[in-house]
Amino acid sequence: MIIAVDGPTASGKGTISKALAAHFGLPHLDTGLLYRAVGRQVFLNGGDPDCAEDALAGTEFPDSLLEDDILRDEGSGSLASRVSIHPSVRKALFERQRAFAEQPGGAVLDGRDIGTVIAPDADVKLFVIASVDARAQRRFAEMSGRGAETTLDEIAEDLRRRDERDTNRKDAPLKAAPDAFVLDTSTLDKDAAIAAAIEAVEQALPSR
Ligand code: C5P
Repeated sequence: MIIAVDGPTASGKGTISKALAAHFGLPHLDTGLLYRAVGRQVFLNGGDPDCAEDALAGTEFPDSLLEDDILRDEGSGSLASRVSIHPSVRKALFERQRAFAEQPGGAVLDGRDIGTVIAPDADVKLFVIASVDARAQRRFAEMSGRGAETTLDEIAEDLRRRDERDTNRKDAPLKAAPDAFVLDTSTLDKDAAIAAAIEAVEQALPSR
């Protein structure tokens, strides 16, 4: 069974995906981490994330980079959103994601284009959304907890910028697949969002 989970930054899709993977006993791939690693590698190379050639060179990152906590930073997220615009970067990361989706027994993948490009054949597609305010509040709580110095306004502004870039890019823009179940987590806490996602998957798979 392939479960595709897409949605904007801080919508709750990562938490939901991990919980779905644990509940259904499936491996999970956070595809955003791959784009973050590309962005970080471009930075380490001293390259320009807006230059297609430099961004493509970043796809040759070592696997050990995926373990680096710095990928969780807003800076890496922002770099990821810039390198992910280039079709050559998306193409270079395609096979890795596709192979993960096709493994025997299936998988849960989360990102922006899983239900539309990477696994249009997924058994279940969720599109997780939440208001900018709700997402900014969550990100603020998470970052303050880690001791990062930032303001709610700065976070909301960054989320808007990334939404704009992810939604309006030509190649594989962030959008719900026509057959996706849209889950709005704006007013749900973590447990309620997970419960709603499990229910949506179970309803899409009545025979399980
Ligand atoms: O999900 P996360 O915030 O880690 O993703 C970082 C960035 O990577 C996103 O803003 C998006 O631009 C890009 N991305 C993408 N396609 C994916 C996953 C992430 O373009 N499947």
